[in-house]
Amino acid sequence: MRTVVYTAEIDDRFGAGKVSSRIGLSSPAKLFNQSTSLFTDIREEHERKPVHCVLVDESQFLTRQQVYELAGVVDELDIPVLCYGLRTDFRGELFIGSQYLLAWSDKLVELKTICFCGRKASMVLRLDQNGQPYNEGEQVVIGGNERYVSVCRKHYKEALAKGSLQAVQQRKEGSS
Ligand SMILES: [Zn+2]
Repeated sequence: MRTVVYTAEIDDRFGAGKVSSRIGLSSPAKLFNQSTSLFTDIREEHERKPVHCVLVDESQFLTRQQVYELAGVVDELDIPVLCYGLRTDFRGELFIGSQYLLAWSDKLVELKTICFCGRKASMVLRLDQNGQPYNEGEQVVIGGNERYVSVCRKHYKEALAKGSLQAVQQRKEGSS
């Protein structure tokens, strides 16, 4: 089975053109940016050698047009497309790519992350270099000193209200 893997050019965490999992598996990947014509690229790959599956990592960075093109890959080229990405940014807003994937995909599988309290972590907190959460500014910051932490909605709100994730975590430990 031939799988073509894409990842966002914006993400240089693992070096260019590679998708890595946290358990250590990795695969070479083609890079996409806002102007990549995914339908044309996949059709050309498919004509060169049949493609059985397409995997798109960091799919929150897809544009509306690219999600539409990927639907065309499924409907016209008859190739299954799997997209993996984040639903919301640190402000709790949908990423554009995720917005249209949620709207147009055939199947949605939610991968659960757990907050420090044990609840489902549906939000992402952005912490600055001093560990202070903040929810303003650019949606995408790559290579800065911020850190992202997955938390539940309750602790997302509490951490922002208190201006500290640590204070919220300590209170939880104190009460349990
Ligand atoms: Zn929590």
